Amino acid sequence: MSKVLVTGGCGFIGSHIVEHLLNTNQEVVVLDDLSTGSRSNLPTHENLNIIIGSVLDKEAVNEAVQGVDLILHMASYVGMKLVYKEPAQSYNVSKIGTENILKASGDTPILLFSTSAVYGLAATTDISEDNKISLERAQSYDGDVKSYSSGKWELEQLGHQAIAAGRKVMIIRPFNVIGERQSAAYGMVVPNFMKNCNTGIPLTIYDDGEQTRSFSCVKTFTKTIFKLLESDDAWVSPNNIINIGSHHIISINKLAHYIKTKMQASSPIEYIPYDTIFPNKKDVRHRIPDTKLLTKLVGEVNWPTVEEIIDGLLVHERATAQAR
Ligand code: UDP
Repeated sequence: MSKVLVTGGCGFIGSHIVEHLLNTNQEVVVLDDLSTGSRSNLPTHENLNIIIGSVLDKEAVNEAVQGVDLILHMASYVGMKLVYKEPAQSYNVSKIGTENILKASGDTPILLFSTSAVYGLAATTDISEDNKISLERAQSYDGDVKSYSSGKWELEQLGHQAIAAGRKVMIIRPFNVIGERQSAAYGMVVPNFMKNCNTGIPLTIYDDGEQTRSFSCVKTFTKTIFKLLESDDAWVSPNNIINIGSHHIISINKLAHYIKTKMQASSPIEYIPYDTIFPNKKDVRHRIPDTKLLTKLVGEVNWPTVEEIIDGLLVHERATAQAR
């Protein structure tokens, strides 16, 4: 049995990662300040120790890293709404939080969760790993202030320094992960549209709705992470900066219509310019990963389509409602 630290383990993705670790009989330490995560995302389990604290708190970090064999570092601000409201904090949690974790944990192998947002605004449907992304490019996503994407860019630089010093580091760039337990509170499109359909309020599409994404199922994403962790090659430069995401592309217009039809909702669909909601910021027009490296490392990943993910979420929602 190994002991694994998951920072941000009470969050949406974190809780799926922790669940997998517990199911495979690992001992898990979670460090989470519950800023966006929730204690109720995780079970009570004899192999799980939850430390409520921030990655910015060195004492909490020191306590969390004691005796761990592996660190999965994903503590971060999430969602455009929160990130836009608190850019500096969003930047600091990634930059200073990652510094604190790396410094406190010696040479323990570490997986750093970056983001596909580091690719900036470049409108592309086949984004391949670029290990030399400039800060300017990452920051274009942030509206040219230091915020979420710049903070994750700093996380990557800290990762590169640790790699150069001989540490086992893997950096992953997730693409629009969705699924059970994703909160609607921070602006993500799928839980928002589903919540609005449930309550009959309008679905608000930003700009013309022809922007595209490839939404990635959190369960498939989690399985893929664990395959990567087991791959020796994935820890070796230059393989250790990896896009993780689906290839199924959908426009936000199609997504809204699919959810509305599936949920038989009366919610109208409305359009609003992106910069009315987020002044001085531009939306990413297309964000689809090139996953040749991922396929080389773990084989072809069988990503469900967004329609299949939404169908599954609706089944889960109904089962949960019936159980209450
Ligand atoms: N979006 C939208 N309406 C919403 C929330 C999001 O039209 O209520 C759009 C957003 O502009 C983006 C896409 O949906 O083009 C995905 O947004 P999300 O916040 O889920 O992830 P992002 O790709 O921005 O990281």
